[in-house]
Amino acid sequence: MSAGDGVAVITLDNPPVNALSFAYCKQLLTAIESAERDPGVRAVVITGANGIFSAGADVNDFAAEPQADAVSVRDIIAAIERSEKTYVAAIDGNCLGGGLELALACDYRGASARSKLGLPEIRLGLIPGAGGTQRLPRLIGARPALELMLKGSSISAERAVELGVLDEITGGELTETASEFARRVADHPTADAPRKRRISAREAVIGDGVPKIALPYVAAQAHKMVPPEEKGGLAAHKLIDAVQAAVEMPFPLGIARESRLFEELVRSKPSLGLRHVFFAERELSKIPGVTLPQTQRDIGGERVGVVGAGTMGSGIAIAFAQSGIPVTVVDTNDEAVERARQTVMGMFMYQVQKGKLTQEEGWKRAQSITFTEDWNELAAADLVVEAVFENLGVKRDVFAKLDGIAEPDAFLATNTSTLDIDRIAEATKRPERVLGLHFFVPANIMPLLEIVRGAETSPEAIAFGFAVGKSLRKKAVLSGNAFGFIGNRMIFDYLREAMALAEEGNAPARVDAVMRNFGFPMGPFAMSDLSGLDVGRQIAQGRGDEGKARTDVLGRLVEMGRLGQKSMAGFFKYDRSIGRGREPIADPVVEEIFAGEARAAGIAPRHADDVEVRERLLYALVNRGAYLLEEGVALRPGDIDIVYVYGYGFPPHHGGPMWYADEVGLDRVYARIREFESQFGPQWKPSALLAKMASFDKELAHA
Ligand code: NAD
Repeated sequence: MSAGDGVAVITLDNPPVNALSFAYCKQLLTAIESAERDPGVRAVVITGANGIFSAGADVNDFAAEPQADAVSVRDIIAAIERSEKTYVAAIDGNCLGGGLELALACDYRGASARSKLGLPEIRLGLIPGAGGTQRLPRLIGARPALELMLKGSSISAERAVELGVLDEITGGELTETASEFARRVADHPTADAPRKRRISAREAVIGDGVPKIALPYVAAQAHKMVPPEEKGGLAAHKLIDAVQAAVEMPFPLGIARESRLFEELVRSKPSLGLRHVFFAERELSKIPGVTLPQTQRDIGGERVGVVGAGTMGSGIAIAFAQSGIPVTVVDTNDEAVERARQTVMGMFMYQVQKGKLTQEEGWKRAQSITFTEDWNELAAADLVVEAVFENLGVKRDVFAKLDGIAEPDAFLATNTSTLDIDRIAEATKRPERVLGLHFFVPANIMPLLEIVRGAETSPEAIAFGFAVGKSLRKKAVLSGNAFGFIGNRMIFDYLREAMALAEEGNAPARVDAVMRNFGFPMGPFAMSDLSGLDVGRQIAQGRGDEGKARTDVLGRLVEMGRLGQKSMAGFFKYDRSIGRGREPIADPVVEEIFAGEARAAGIAPRHADDVEVRERLLYALVNRGAYLLEEGVALRPGDIDIVYVYGYGFPPHHGGPMWYADEVGLDRVYARIREFESQFGPQWKPSALLAKMASFDKELAHA
């Protein structure tokens, strides 16, 4: 704290993000109390160091057992609320969660133009718990407040002024301007600028001129608009309740209501799952033996090279260009190049139309991707990503050629989905600089990147892979070099069970519906249709005996030209006039094919209820995930969870498959897997790790 001329300045300084942890709040309270005791101090300015106001409470504290002497943001706010001195929040940078709640307890709020404000608690399955749900509706109206908190995204300072969250955008030296203002108001309060301006003393309105009497109706509408509780909507419903309380109840009762709802949510399964995902993300880049650069490194050199201008190559090129890294793309096929050019141009023009880029930026980005037949243009790249056909011979030829062209210290990456990285690396004289960068389709959109470590891949190459992930703002997960890596290896087992269920006479549409009800955006059959049944069959063939199915349903559908969504028919049919041709429509023809093939293979019909459908699909993921941990393909259960949440649409409020297994109870999951093994066969043999953890009554999270 610094004090001068009647104004004390308290600077939040708890690097890196000025988190308002219990420990830090204790210090903060001491600073506030000393300002309160000092008769010379008439006003207090709260500001932040480290280029940020505050990112809010420390998420670690939510799990902590409450200590009697713990000091939280609520206590800081209560002290400000009791004070007769003027408090001004001088905001620069992010002001989020508890940080914004603290600012809302101040009498005035000014911010620099670059600041961002928000209450993102909903993303962790929580609601603001330090008065945010009661003060914000009183400040800007219940409706806009609810909208802001339900979205959980942050808004610009400009928008915050429009909404009335901020009093003004402050130019010049923020603290000085704020101090001067605070002094003036404290010494010469006016009706327009009183010394104290407590939001808690105001009444909340609904907003948009809607009368208060309509509150039950407005709340009922809001409840209808958010997902149901079982599909991850629990916190949203509680938030609506809290905001309703802000309009209906006197402030202290509203605050009590908020606290109660918050405490319920902190212990709720969805929030625990979401917080697990939050922490698992932070762990991703902790790799034993690999030191990651703390600062953003320049990954591009002059340019990144991409070989192959197909579906993946063009998506990868767009991903780099979007991050401001110029790309050179090489392909041997003129038609592919022409298509890729159009895809690239179409993508950036779409972003211009959507208002995400200016015309000039869109054009510049599109122009930063160049197509050529001349491989020598890849010579200047620090990184070349190969995305040619999924064929080992073709890929080895490409790597041998790249090895001769690229600088000796350049990294060569393959986007293979299933091939052995070591066999590809062998084709070069630099296997230590060869790695897998497995993007997901569409590569410019999907937030996941698997970084595959071959036997010779150096720690430096892995660190480089993580730097690529950071530049592209993707969640990068390390995987060992095993068939299908983490994500696809597990999905094979999941799809195997989906096929088995359909062979037993359970309709694909029902199997899909069960998984959608669990929270996946689509079921296994719609997902297969999206990625292409021909691709699925090719991969199954690539796995040899392991990929052999009990029936040839997949082969029959492919031969009928039913390749999935791209041919408007696969496991489902599609109609261009329904859901823009993306809505799966159940097709009795497919059910007949399943029935016929099952009969021929001697598979008896067997009804599985919804619980069994869910268990077979999810426990297939869990069991394979446990094998991958046992084999060292995946480093941590949390890594697997991130792959599933960000790459396969696993509902984040269930935390990912491995977290879910702990949530259900490993002993129960293990017992069911044993039952499936005796009922369905050796494909269900439980992983030794799972058996061990279940018998010790441990959780996978501790594996
Ligand atoms: P694609 O068939 O759409 O594109 C491959 C491109 O490579 C074609 O344009 C082809 O002309 C070009 N090509 C082939 N041989 C070449 C050579 N010797 N030199 C230069 N260019 C050559 O295939 P895709 O779907 O983009 O897949 C590419 C790679 O990405 C494969 O390894 C695939 O397994 C992997 N992958 C695909 C997906 C997916 O869902 N499509 C997802 C992740 C990874």
